[in-house]
Amino acid sequence: MMTNKNSVLLLYTGGTIGMSENLCPMAFEQVQKLLPELEQTGVNITNFSFDPPIDSSDVDTDLWEKIARMIENNYDKFDGFVVLHGTDTMAYTASALSFMLENLAKPIILTGSQLRIGELRTDAKENLLNAIMLACGKNEFGEAMVPEVCVYFGDELYRGNRTTKKNAEHFSAFRSYNYPLLAKAGVHIKYFTSNIRYPDKSAKLCVRTKTDKNIAILKIFPGITQNAVSAVFSTTNLKAVVLESFGSGNVPQENTWFLNELKKAIDKKIIIVNKTQCNSGSVEMGRYPASQKLKDIGVISAYDCTTEAIVTKLMCLLGENKDLEKVNNLLKTDIAGEMTISDSE
Ligand code: ASP
Repeated sequence: MMTNKNSVLLLYTGGTIGMSENLCPMAFEQVQKLLPELEQTGVNITNFSFDPPIDSSDVDTDLWEKIARMIENNYDKFDGFVVLHGTDTMAYTASALSFMLENLAKPIILTGSQLRIGELRTDAKENLLNAIMLACGKNEFGEAMVPEVCVYFGDELYRGNRTTKKNAEHFSAFRSYNYPLLAKAGVHIKYFTSNIRYPDKSAKLCVRTKTDKNIAILKIFPGITQNAVSAVFSTTNLKAVVLESFGSGNVPQENTWFLNELKKAIDKKIIIVNKTQCNSGSVEMGRYPASQKLKDIGVISAYDCTTEAIVTKLMCLLGENKDLEKVNNLLKTDIAGEMTISDSE
């Protein structure tokens, strides 16, 4: 239910949606000219552009911090927030924001497009206009329908920290493999309320933006060498590694060097999180002998988290906490709807 008083803060970071014909990011004023429909939404839209607009391949943690602070500083003035962002790293930004903004009670909708806004068949219009409507969608009590950090793309609304960019070409570019949709935009916007997280109404927004980037991803494959593995663990200042394992969390065990490298790293207080290379399903350490040993040496399960979510969760937890024990405990906790903890482990 919407009234004319709805207001949205539109944060423009760049991406294809706002690129010119020669694929250079345009200023938001040019984007606005190509989308006169923004006026017709009946929503009071205020925009802010990050300068310069960027291809999202250049996103770094400082942009996440700036977006989070913009939202914090304008939180009471708007019903919701839309972040225009390149698709390439949108799932990382959405995940990071979900960890930075605790007790969120307003929608933050990230969107972008596969085709530039000026192109004939562009998906930018649909995505942006629907994102604005979703950002100010309220129930009969005037409360936000989706008080979460979300990604809206190709008529589907996803929990941001469950998304992955799955297609470099299709209009349906994102997918949430392990969590159902929050809403679908057809003739009407249909909300799936039982999938949406609602905050504790008495809790206030708490913004934490410190990050620590000293992490690495180690994706294993048959034939991986000890040199390659130990090079990752020898990274200067390394604090944590996301181990991308096979299937339900399995790793080679016949070559004892592999587990020894991991054990040595854990002894040096490097956190290792086990994330499956599969898009769907969960890590289940102990289901096979090939993963039981990981559990025994202190590797932590990422359950059904996306790589984007576990990487940004680690950055945020390590940035905010000096106590390793606390980080370990929070890694095992679902803090922003990012994972489903299974009982089988
Ligand atoms: N390279 C672009 C970006 O992520 C792709 C896009 O926006 O779809 O900024």
